[in-house]
Amino acid sequence: MVGTATTAGIVELMDISGASRPEADRDPEKMAKLAASFHTDAKFEVIRYPFDVTVVGEALGCQIDTGTRARTPSIISHPFESKPEDIEIPIDLMKRGRVPVVIEASRLLRNELGMKVPIIAGIEGPADLASYLCGISSFLMWTIQKPEIAKAVIDKCIDACIICANEYLNSGANAVVMADSLSSPEMMGPDAFKELVKPALVRYNESVKGNTILHICGEVDSIVPDILQCGFNAISVEENVKDLNNIIYLAHKNNTAVIGNISTANTLYRKPPEDVRKEAFKCLDAKIDILAPGCGLAPETPLRNLLAMSEARDEFKHLKDKV
Ligand SMILES: [Zn+2]
Repeated sequence: MVGTATTAGIVELMDISGASRPEADRDPEKMAKLAASFHTDAKFEVIRYPFDVTVVGEALGCQIDTGTRARTPSIISHPFESKPEDIEIPIDLMKRGRVPVVIEASRLLRNELGMKVPIIAGIEGPADLASYLCGISSFLMWTIQKPEIAKAVIDKCIDACIICANEYLNSGANAVVMADSLSSPEMMGPDAFKELVKPALVRYNESVKGNTILHICGEVDSIVPDILQCGFNAISVEENVKDLNNIIYLAHKNNTAVIGNISTANTLYRKPPEDVRKEAFKCLDAKIDILAPGCGLAPETPLRNLLAMSEARDEFKHLKDKV
């Protein structure tokens, strides 16, 4: 299968579909239209929406810069930096901010695409959400100096993740992908991940009724064994992993699918389709389950490089069939 579990709001598809950001970030019909365009125009067999990872943070009170056509929304305020104990997850979270937009887009996409194209709704993971609410440096400092505060914040954040994930699944999403870039060993140490984030991810998977995917950026090899104990149906990894073959081996032993990992920043963004093909072949040789961009796509990523992914898969299949 070819598709994406990471953010993918590319400008060329905004032009083709007539659904551009920032409207496609806020209007369910436009969100569904741009997402569906990844199937019809980029030949993706699995699609992912929304096109940014600030929806839950915004719903919990963070201000966002709404971005432009070619610039993804980002968090610009951390309302609980000085009072993390005040974080409360509202019971009507599903009615706040853009959460209802993602819920409605899930319904629209499911109705339009039927069951033939799996649709994946995305949310922020608990560490990313904690950094949105409290500021990245404060939160990372707590993980080292005041782990009890970090843990309490993560516990509240995972409650928000559980509410949103269940709502999206109930509305028609086939899976929910959680992106948690701060859980990367390059950001927080593997010990902090194991002590602080892992228990929350276990609880998340015990509480979410449906398929779950985890995306963590960077060289995640050292935490893969812990990730695999959290109960996700699939993991999405990027090209900076040290040993993709080993990750896939461990994941498959655990009945977990692996999604990835064509370089988004280099190959898909700035290299010719021939390079995409080469990298796709490497992933397919390693028995990747869903051939996908390794991380969020840059808005200026050329469509021809996305099309090169399914072409490479078809060619790979053809070559294998011949053997
Ligand atoms: Zn990433």
